Amino acid sequence: MSHDSSLNRSTLAVCAGRPAPAPGGPLNTGVSLSATFHAGTEANYLRQGGSEITRAFEAALGELEGGRALGFSSGMAAIAAVVEHLPTGSTIVGPLAVYSGTSMLFDEQERLGRARVRRVDISDTEAVLEALRLDPAPDLLWIETPTNPTFGVADLPVLIEAAHAVGALVAVDSTWNSPMVLRPLEYGADVVMHSATKYLAGHSDVLMGALVVADDEVFARLKARRDLGGATPGALETFLTLRGMRTLSVRMDRAQANAGELARRLTSHPSVERVLYPGLPDDPAHDRVTRLHDGYGAMVCFLVTGGSAAADRVCERVHLITHATSLGGVESLIERRARYAVDAANGTPENLIRFSVGIEDVDDLWHDLQQALID
Ligand SMILES: *Cc1c(COP(=O)(O)O)cnc(C)c1O
Repeated sequence: MSHDSSLNRSTLAVCAGRPAPAPGGPLNTGVSLSATFHAGTEANYLRQGGSEITRAFEAALGELEGGRALGFSSGMAAIAAVVEHLPTGSTIVGPLAVYSGTSMLFDEQERLGRARVRRVDISDTEAVLEALRLDPAPDLLWIETPTNPTFGVADLPVLIEAAHAVGALVAVDSTWNSPMVLRPLEYGADVVMHSATKYLAGHSDVLMGALVVADDEVFARLKARRDLGGATPGALETFLTLRGMRTLSVRMDRAQANAGELARRLTSHPSVERVLYPGLPDDPAHDRVTRLHDGYGAMVCFLVTGGSAAADRVCERVHLITHATSLGGVESLIERRARYAVDAANGTPENLIRFSVGIEDVDDLWHDLQQALID
């Protein structure tokens, strides 16, 4: 059931993808643990997305992003479907600083001789336009915005228009934003990608991904790649993600409010060299995010004085905040990103701590950070 488009997104998060009302019928789509379904419909096998819960999740996310959604078994499976549905010999323009898995996938595609990848600073509009104009013309512009973990923010409308002018498909990894903060299809992107593991599911208990697609023909190609690659999500994961999405709006509101306040407090802490958060008025991404996004997100990065050893100490000393990778859950997580070779090679400063701000009390989070930052 698709809703009146005048409904606010926070309302859609609650009501999209529900079963049609029927006397005595359920409010929620249940999980039927069945891999196959009685004959008589086209999609009658779980791998082809034939489960009701898959359809309910896809309907809800599709309404939130403004396109047709496809569930995947992980964020990486969704990224791989976009990259691998291109013909051999394709050219991709993608960010220099990008999620580590995406970076490794690009490298592998090149090593296997399947694709050429031009890596650029995605926040440097001129550099991206230049890479789009080079010969051969690119087949795909892959955008991640903001970039992970250095907060490069793409000027989406300009880049999308330029990519379309040279015939490239545009896909946007919008994991850090969720549809509450950014909806790339509204700026003309062809495909939006989510690691649903993060904000959509929101409780660090699910591995799942999604694509949302504007065009029916592109949708059919990506669905074929998903089904042939066997990357369809399981029914339980899909149920948990849809359940998480019901509170997406309130979780994002709270996490963003916490992030804004903690970023502000961190800027004046003596053990902090620099804070990267687009909500800070002097942040390089501030103006662009204010213009294009509906919020500043709930990820904060900060550089501590004393190099990598000092940053590692902060990660070891937090009690309430958890030292762990990933992001987007109700609980706050922290990690030093340059501990991964691929992030270090992509230019992540060694003393940068990535902080996924959760929905705990802001003063409790601040006290934990303060005691961890004491020399
Ligand atoms: C986590 C993440 C991914 C990969 O998603 P998985 O669900 O872990 O496979 C891709 N992009 C970004 C920005 C991420 O944070």
